[in-house]
Amino acid sequence: MYKVSKTASFAYSHRLLDYKGKCKNLHGHNGRVELILETKTLNGAAMAADFTEFGAALRSWVDLNLDHKTILCARDPLLKKLKEAGQSCFETAGNPTAETLAELIFTEMKKLSLPVSEVKFWETDNSMASFSK
Ligand SMILES: [Zn+2]
Repeated sequence: MYKVSKTASFAYSHRLLDYKGKCKNLHGHNGRVELILETKTLNGAAMAADFTEFGAALRSWVDLNLDHKTILCARDPLLKKLKEAGQSCFETAGNPTAETLAELIFTEMKKLSLPVSEVKFWETDNSMASFSK
């Protein structure tokens, strides 16, 4: 089995609902995502996947959807107010935790027909959540 990965970093803000810790307050992160692909065979160029191609797919999705946006749960009352103020937001069905963002990016990269095996999401340098099936 071959595994290859690319990372992308981006800035975002979020807050968590139904949570008593400090993350209930709106705050920011410089997050990093690692997209891991897995194949049983190599292509004609002896690659599991082209770093340039799948790295660009990850980068463009993250730039378009998450970078410099406020990521909030769809039922967060702040969402409406921020949108009214012209702020760029991204809605998640549940709380926008590192786990939620890892699963979201996993699902979006799968839609591009990439052989995704796992997505790791670092909310900080020492806090990581991953999602795989
Ligand atoms: Zn946070």
